[in-house]
Amino acid sequence: MMCPYCGNIETSVTDSRLADDGRSIRRRRECSKCGKRFTTYERTELERITVIKKDNTREPFDRNKIISGIMKACEKMPVTREQMDIMADRVERAIRFKGWVLSGNPDNPFLLICL
Ligand SMILES: [Zn+2]
Repeated sequence: MMCPYCGNIETSVTDSRLADDGRSIRRRRECSKCGKRFTTYERTELERITVIKKDNTREPFDRNKIISGIMKACEKMPVTREQMDIMADRVERAIRFKGWVLSGNPDNPFLLICL
C-alpha cells in the first residue's frame, strides 16, 4: 500500500481491527521512509459481480435467480425451501469468494458465466 504522503510503497501495518460491526477491517499503517501513519479500510466488494449470459448480455448478480433456478431443478424432489436457501448461500459464497480473489482491478470485475 503506497504512502499517501511520500509515495513510498513499503509501508507496514501497525494495528488491525474489525470495524463497521465486522464488515470491514481498519488498518493503521506506517511508512518505512517518512514515518507518517495513515489508515486503510478493507471491505468486501459485493457490488462487483456481473453475470454474463449465454447471449453475451450482462446483468448484476441476483440471488433470487439462483433460488428460482434451484426451485426449477428441485421441482419434483423432496427439497425444502430452507435447503434451497442453504444451497443458494453456498453458490453465492463461492461466487463472492472468487470475486474477491479476482477483482483486483476495478475496471476488470470478476465475470461469471451463468447457466
Ligand atoms: Zn511516506
